Amino acid sequence: MARTEVMIVGAGPLGIELAIAFKRAGLDCVQVDAGQIGQTILAWPPMTRWFSSSERITIAGVPIQTVSQEKCTREEYLAYLRSVVMQFDLDICTYERTLDISRDTDAFSVTTRTRAGKVRTRTARYVVLTTGGMAAPNRLGVHGEDLPHVSHVLADPHTYFRRDVLIVGGRNSAVEAALRLHHAGARVTMCYRGTSLGDGVKYWLRPEIEYLIKKERIKTHFETVPIVILPDRVELRTGGGDTVTVPADFVLMMIGYVADMSLFRQAGVELTGDREVPSFDRQTMQTNVPGLFVAGTAIAGTQRSGVRVFLENCHVHVDRIVAAITGGTPPPEPEPVLLPEA
Ligand SMILES: Cc1cc2nc3c(=O)[nH]c(=O)nc-3n(C[C@H](O)[C@H](O)[C@H](O)COP(=O)(O)OP(=O)(O)OC[C@H]3O[C@@H](n4cnc5c(N)ncnc54)[C@H](O)[C@@H]3O)c2cc1C
Repeated sequence: MARTEVMIVGAGPLGIELAIAFKRAGLDCVQVDAGQIGQTILAWPPMTRWFSSSERITIAGVPIQTVSQEKCTREEYLAYLRSVVMQFDLDICTYERTLDISRDTDAFSVTTRTRAGKVRTRTARYVVLTTGGMAAPNRLGVHGEDLPHVSHVLADPHTYFRRDVLIVGGRNSAVEAALRLHHAGARVTMCYRGTSLGDGVKYWLRPEIEYLIKKERIKTHFETVPIVILPDRVELRTGGGDTVTVPADFVLMMIGYVADMSLFRQAGVELTGDREVPSFDRQTMQTNVPGLFVAGTAIAGTQRSGVRVFLENCHVHVDRIVAAITGGTPPPEPEPVLLPEA
C-alpha cells in the first residue's frame, strides 16, 4: 500500500495553495480531487467574475494579471490555477474521488476511486480535507423542479435570448444572473421570499438592479415562493396566500449550495447543527480526530445567509496547518478582512 506523509483531499484554490506550502516545507504529499483542479470554479457560468479583487484570491504569492485590469473571470482564474500547478510541478490525481478515511494506530487509510473505476488505498500520516462548501445546489423541493428547463446553474446567457426566464432567489447569484440575462436579451422575472433584495447584494450590483426592478424591466415578486413549475409557466404563492402565474421557458433556481460533509462524518469528525460545521481547533485547523485537518471553505459546512467564509479569508489556514504538522509557530491571527468583497 502506498504511504505518504500528508494526503490532501480537494484541489480547489485552497487545496492547491496547501500543496505548494507542503512542497516548500519538504513534506511528501498526495493530492486527489473528485473532479478537475478548481472544479467548483469550473462549474460557474461562463465569464462569471470573482467578486473579490485579484490580490485576495492569489495563492502561494503568485500574482494574477488580467487583460482588462478588472476582477478575474472564471476563465482567467482557471488558467491561473493551471499555470500555478505547472509552475510548482504539482502531481494532482484529478477525477479521483475519496470514498473512505479510517484511522489505524499511527496513520490513516484513505480509499479513493478513479474515473476508470479503479479503487486505491493509500496510507497517510496526516489528512487535510479541503472539500469546499458547494458540492450541490440547494433544492426547493417543489413540484416540477426536475423538469428539463429548470436548472440550478446559469448556462451561457445566449441560451435565454428572447425567452421568458424566472429567476428564483434574491441574493448575489440571482441578482447577477438577472442582470446578465436582461442584458443578453432575455425577458427576466424574479421571485424572492424576502421583502426586498438580500442585504449582502454587492454595492456595484444594487443600483442597476433596483432601477430595473423599479422600472419593471425586471419584474420582481417579493415575499413569494414557487409552488408548482410547469413546462411553460410557474405558479407562485404570495405572502398573502394568493397565486400568481408567470410565464417561464426557463427557470433558474439561484438559491445557494450545500456542502457534502459525508467524509467528515464518516471519519469521525463532530459536525454541529444543520449546517454541519466541523469541529476544529482554530490555531491548528486540526479536527477532533487527531491528525485530520480541515481547510478552506469546508470549515463552514453548508453556508447559508449570514455566514461569510470564502477563499479570500481562508489563506491563513495554510500556515496554521504547516505549522501544526512541522512543529512550527502558528501564524498570528490575521486582521479581519477589511470590507470583504466576496
Ligand atoms: C458565482 C460565484 C462567485 C464566487 N465569487 C467568490 C469571490 O469573489 N470570492 C471568494 O472568495 N469566493 C467566491 N465564491 C466562492 C468560491 O467558489 C470559494 O470561495 C472557493 O472555491 C473556495 O475554495 P476551496 O478550495 O475552499 O473549495 P473549492 O474550490 O470548493 O474546492 C473543493 C474541491 O474539493 C473537491 N472534492 C470535494 N469532495 C471530494 C472528495 N470526496 N474527493 C475528492 N475531492 C473532493 C471538489 O471537486 C473541489 O475541487 C464564488 C462562488 C460562486 C458560485
